[in-house]
Amino acid sequence: MTDLTRRKFLQATGASLATTSLLSAATSTPPLPSSGNHEGVVISSANGIETVNIAYQLMSEQNMRPVSAAIRGVAVVEADPNDMSVGYGGLPNERGVVQLDSSCMDGPTHNAGSVSCIEDIMHPAQVAELVMDRTDHINLVGQGARQFAIDHGFKAEDLLTERAREIWLKWRAKRTDDDRLWPLGDTVPADPALADEPRPWGTIHCSALNGAGDVGCCTTTSGLSFKIPGRIGDSPLVGAGMYCDNEIGSAGATGRGEAAIMSCGSMLVVERMRAGDSPEQACLYVLKRVAEQAQRASKWQPMLYRDGAPNFGLTFYAIRKDGTYASASMRGKPGSSKFAVADKNGARLENCAIAFA
Ligand code: ASP
Repeated sequence: MTDLTRRKFLQATGASLATTSLLSAATSTPPLPSSGNHEGVVISSANGIETVNIAYQLMSEQNMRPVSAAIRGVAVVEADPNDMSVGYGGLPNERGVVQLDSSCMDGPTHNAGSVSCIEDIMHPAQVAELVMDRTDHINLVGQGARQFAIDHGFKAEDLLTERAREIWLKWRAKRTDDDRLWPLGDTVPADPALADEPRPWGTIHCSALNGAGDVGCCTTTSGLSFKIPGRIGDSPLVGAGMYCDNEIGSAGATGRGEAAIMSCGSMLVVERMRAGDSPEQACLYVLKRVAEQAQRASKWQPMLYRDGAPNFGLTFYAIRKDGTYASASMRGKPGSSKFAVADKNGARLENCAIAFA
């Protein structure tokens, strides 16, 4: 743009130096968190005690970038047949097929990658990392994601364990629930026999900050058990299931993915920290926002409300660039919900804050 046309453009749009300073005010007030004086920290959902330990060591001993350390850390859970919410052994969709979702994001480059509904590949977070590093795309889905993984040397294998198959068969034999809703205007019969068994959920999110103040994160899951084939949750969606910004920090979510998607939850956590919230305040703010939104979500009524708060699980995790961190869950008694942390003092579980105790 020449100077003249630029001037005309500024006049025409009403933009001016004032706009420029408004923009910079919006991004620089209050002061951005500094990288502080710490040696890094890794957090994850409670199933990641080994994950945070591995990721912290990879960052501190091998100087691995935070996103890759998080991805290597979650690999133990992806390979664990006893964790039925992630990778190998994950519970299948309603047709008995294991479909996995994952995403990752690198703070320093602001690059991201993800895969959705990928089948037969045990480590979707590593495929997401390749999508991030080796393609100009962000998300690969289904068959394309699987083929991309195989092309890059991943092994295709059956991820449905006998235990997961048995659980799926039992669910199918007595199923009373379905994710397809009654047509609008029809009334769902109030038959107590139609009450649902709780549906197993689970996922692992991991956020990492190194001593230099760089962040990275990833989330990996088999998603909602017995989901409609093709359903993706928040985990592979940048801004929903995870998000980071190297100026501010990193965040992620586990739990009811539809709620994290509709609130752009992980991005909102990071933006609240940009606005000056502590990690705990930011996570609680977003949970309360989700609760308000859920009240308006007509298709979730009345099944998802109890005692004035959403009757579903949702947890956010956040690290700020200055080394502070927290996690908060939607419901529960104080102390009932935990998350994993590793720093120079080792790995441990800590309590999540609770939005609606
Ligand atoms: N958020 C995941 C999903 O909606 C599931 C979970 O975290 O439990 O697929």
